[in-house]
Amino acid sequence: ARAAAPGYRAAHPNHRRRVFLTPATYDVVAIGNAIVDILAQADDAFIAEQGMTKGSMQLMFSPAEADALYAKMGPGREVSGGSAANTIAGIAALGGKCGFIGQVADDQLGQVFKHDINAAGIRFDTPPRAGEPTTARCLIFVTPDGQRTMNTFLGASQFLPEHAIDREMIAGGAILYLEGYLWDPEEPRAAMRAAIDVARAAGRRVAFTLSDVFCISRHGDDFRQLMADGLIDILFANENELLALCQTEDFEAAVAQAAAQVPVLVVTRSEHGAIAVKDGERVAVAAEPIARVVDTTGAGDLFAAGFLHGQAQGRDVATSLRMGALCAAEIISHYGARPEVDLKAMVAAKLG
Ligand code: ADP
Repeated sequence: ARAAAPGYRAAHPNHRRRVFLTPATYDVVAIGNAIVDILAQADDAFIAEQGMTKGSMQLMFSPAEADALYAKMGPGREVSGGSAANTIAGIAALGGKCGFIGQVADDQLGQVFKHDINAAGIRFDTPPRAGEPTTARCLIFVTPDGQRTMNTFLGASQFLPEHAIDREMIAGGAILYLEGYLWDPEEPRAAMRAAIDVARAAGRRVAFTLSDVFCISRHGDDFRQLMADGLIDILFANENELLALCQTEDFEAAVAQAAAQVPVLVVTRSEHGAIAVKDGERVAVAAEPIARVVDTTGAGDLFAAGFLHGQAQGRDVATSLRMGALCAAEIISHYGARPEVDLKAMVAAKLG
């Protein structure tokens, strides 16, 4: 038996005011790290020579280090990446109208990012930033056993200034989606705070993903304050992030605590699926069965895509959850964080 999750009681005035001044132009507008993923084959010896831990992700802190490793890479395939950008790409693949805001540099990788995200049908016109550092890149070495070893240089993406956000686009998005990873650097944090104000003034919903336990250890007070101030309408977390946010080891207590402060709480639970709590009503979805889990990169990102697209279409929470589970299952059944099937058709067929 568990204590009933009390759920959100519409107590905060910020959550009651829903004045839609104009119809939305976009389903979802996201702000996140603008990263170009560069994938290349490598053998185990190369991974060992470079001192990397196979299967892990590590950050590179100097542009010189990033350039040197890039130079050693074999022929690569480049695709725009980043957590919120992956979510937005998923929503676009589902047929949603989307915009993305993120900082690239005025360099070739910046052009690759823009070209790729525009080609996915997503509006992206954040002005490129002149000078150093370069556009963010994630160098992904794929070994013959299929494992991915990632080295990320965050570069220009950490310098998104408040003045670069497109206020008109944010005001025109039914949902503003923010990536917790970008709360770390100072400039994007200020930009996201400004974006929340713009979205709220336009009567839009704000969705936030906690991204990572490390982010919560550094910015948990900020995140808790945003919730207490009624500034988050949809919160995404995985189990560990939820526990870290609520500073407890007790899952049920954490769900109750968080659900009391946000109108919609979504918690993903890896192979155990996900739950959502809306207005005191708790709904669960099982993980979608798949033949083999190949690569879990992007599971949470694509879950968010399915859920948000469902919400933007006015679907109920149970259906939105199911859409999240279907998108997540597709992404983890192959390598890479971009869908390989027609997501829209797949979801339509499965939902019946
Ligand atoms: P994150 O990637 O953000 O940590 P999760 O690991 O909770 O997120 O996964 C998000 C969703 O992806 C889950 O709700 C589930 O639908 C699906 N999923 C993730 N891992 C597995 C798995 N091992 N088996 C089946 N489904 C999974």
